[in-house]
Amino acid sequence: MDTALADRLAAVDERIRDAARAAGRDLDEITRIVVTKFHPAALVTDLYELGVRHVGENRQQELTAKRAELDGIRDLTWHFIGQAQTNKARAVRASADAVHSVDRARIADALHAADPDAAPLDVLVQVNLTDDPGRGGVDPDGVPALATHVAGLSSLRLRGVMAVAPLDEEPARAFERLRRCADATRAVVGDATWISAGMTGDFPEAIEMGATHLRIGSAITGPRPARQ
Ligand SMILES: *Cc1c(COP(=O)(O)O)cnc(C)c1O
Repeated sequence: MDTALADRLAAVDERIRDAARAAGRDLDEITRIVVTKFHPAALVTDLYELGVRHVGENRQQELTAKRAELDGIRDLTWHFIGQAQTNKARAVRASADAVHSVDRARIADALHAADPDAAPLDVLVQVNLTDDPGRGGVDPDGVPALATHVAGLSSLRLRGVMAVAPLDEEPARAFERLRRCADATRAVVGDATWISAGMTGDFPEAIEMGATHLRIGSAITGPRPARQ
C-alpha cells in the first residue's frame, strides 16, 4: 500500500473537517467523493482499503471498465461526473449509482429510456457557472425548467445540483450562484438537497457555501497519468 496516498487522504480529510468546523457544519452532511479518472482500478482498491466508499469518474468507458473489474466490491458508490452523451446513456445508467451531469432534457430522457422501470437513479442538474455556453451545464436561468423535467421522469430521482467553479472568478462568488440554483431546485423537489461542488483547488470554499458532495481528485490521488 502506498503510504503517500494514505497521507494525502488524511490531509484532505483534515482540511474538510477544519472547513466544516469553521462553517459550523456537520461533517455527516458532507460526502467526500474521490475522483479516480485516468488512474487504474488498483488505485480504487487502495482507496477502498483506506475506507473510501465514494468514487467519481468522468468517462463512461472508464467507469464501465473499472466497475466491471471491481465487481466484487459491493459497497462502493460510483458517481458519474463527466459530460454525458445520449448514445452512452444506457451504459452510464448500467454502471453509475449517481449521475451529476444532467444538463439538458435530452440526456435526462435518454437515462430514463435506458431503463424506465428500474429503481430510480440519483441524478443532479449540472449548472454552468461560466459565461461560456460551450461549457457543460445548463444556464442558471434554465435550472427550474430542467429540474421540473427531470422530476417528471419516474426512473430518475432528482437529488440536487452540481457545478465546476470557473477558472477566472473567486470560487466563493461562483458558488453563491450555485446555492441560488440549489434553492430553485428545492422549490421543485423539496428533498433535492445535494450540492455537488468543490475540487482540489476550491473545496474549502465549497464547504463554506454549503456543498454536500465534494469531488476531489489530484489532492488525494496525486497527479493524474496522461489521458489515454
Ligand atoms: C477531474 C474532476 C474533478 C476533480 O478535479 P481535481 O482538481 O483533481 O480535484 C472534479 N469534478 C469534475 C467534474 C472533474 O472532471
